[in-house]
Amino acid sequence: MSPVLVSLADGLGHGLIGDRVLSEAGRATIAIENPATGRVFARVGAATATDARAAIETARVAQLDWKRRGGHERGRLLERWFDRITAQARDLAHVMVLEQGKPMAEALAEVAYAASYVKFYAEEAKRLHGEAIPSSSGQRRQFVVREPVGVCAAITPWNFPAAMVTRKAAPALAAGCAMVLKPSELTPLTALLLVELALAAGLPPGLLNVVVGDAAEIGGVLTASPVVRMLSFTGSTRVGQLLMAQCAPTVKKLGLELGGNAPFIVFDDADLDDAVEGALASKFRNAGQTCVCANRLYVQDGIHDAFAAKLTARVRELRPGSGFDERSTQGPLINRAARDKAMAHIHDARAHGARVVCGGEIVDGPGHFMQPTVLTDVTPQMLCHREETFGPVAPLIRFQSEDQVVAWANASEFGLASYFFSRDIARCFRVAEAIEAGMVGINTGLISSEDVPFGGVKQSGLGREGSRHGLDEYTELKLMSFGSL
Ligand code: ADP
Repeated sequence: MSPVLVSLADGLGHGLIGDRVLSEAGRATIAIENPATGRVFARVGAATATDARAAIETARVAQLDWKRRGGHERGRLLERWFDRITAQARDLAHVMVLEQGKPMAEALAEVAYAASYVKFYAEEAKRLHGEAIPSSSGQRRQFVVREPVGVCAAITPWNFPAAMVTRKAAPALAAGCAMVLKPSELTPLTALLLVELALAAGLPPGLLNVVVGDAAEIGGVLTASPVVRMLSFTGSTRVGQLLMAQCAPTVKKLGLELGGNAPFIVFDDADLDDAVEGALASKFRNAGQTCVCANRLYVQDGIHDAFAAKLTARVRELRPGSGFDERSTQGPLINRAARDKAMAHIHDARAHGARVVCGGEIVDGPGHFMQPTVLTDVTPQMLCHREETFGPVAPLIRFQSEDQVVAWANASEFGLASYFFSRDIARCFRVAEAIEAGMVGINTGLISSEDVPFGGVKQSGLGREGSRHGLDEYTELKLMSFGSL
């Protein structure tokens, strides 16, 4: 029997160190709010700095054995974890709707997406190949092997409470590492349930430890520890920079998935319907709260008015509401501050001459809902163009030429996702090569899956998650160079 980390019936969640559930009487708790109602519906036992240190030590000991297990065995356990996640997809989705707010259909899609990483790395566990390099002097035998980095720390955000956990934990475990996970204090229950399922699947205790607590305190312990050899973080650029600095004294390996400011470009020669559907998927999924969401929609003069009209008609069909109501397509924003920020972007745009074509207001009543919004006459000087809005606001910027729009798209310190729509193959290659981003979606608004590398350039981060490259984050190359054999 695995320990119970989440009991929604009792409204309680607990962290885990090895097989020790952090559930003693008297432990301070963190309140978990449902963003659709604004009400606290659960509490999670808060981990302290001492707990975080104990979790690191537990992971260190567990990893010594885990790294010696073969790829087949590691893969088989991951495969079992995948089966458990799939079998309990509804429960996971339910918890996610409660703590994060996304519509049930999106929550179920996220569970499938999260599980796909576990499956993928279950298979990759068998393929930690090295290489033999012929000696250029002819005097040596040279072999390169891949070893697990050791104990890894993961700090994950609230917008994808399941997928951001598996995207880090699955490759780490496949590579032979152990992990201390600090999920977002806003959405820890999904992470706890995932870990519960991993243990139920037979994963040895100590390989996946969860500490939910004060972010700065726990983050401080994880980054300062010389035992932690790698930190994988998904979140804001501000916190990423802070963690990077904190990791400098112990020179840790870093995987950082930070902010974006994705350009979404529609050229005159685009397929109008495809571009509208792409914009809808990219901009309004998760109520605009993804780091790959289109943030600036550049539309060429000749197609601008038709695109604006069609997109607006589609956005008017979107329905904010509880994730448990099947008619809802838009959940709430995660909290009041998130909605205030999105509203501030709308007010700033309006004050500087933009037009609100639809939406533009909060939704009265409980929770942090807001109307899906389309703005036109937006200019590059406005806040919604310069900063990541992280909300359901689509600002349209009219442009004339390819050179102009590529320059605008690249005039950002970020470079995560980017998108454009065109049916001219020469332009497709030209623009894809010119855009400074880790990912380019061409005639699509959705780019992420477990089999391709996800990540950014510039201040959007370091390293890649997903695909065989995602495993590199959790391995080190070791050269074995034989002389005089
Ligand atoms: P967002 O602005 O999207 O909430 P954050 O970067 O604040 O993104 O949060 C992402 C993750 O980083 C969360 O798990 C959060 O608790 C954590 N976090 C925030 N501040 C710190 C910090 N000072 N040290 C370590 N982790 C932090």
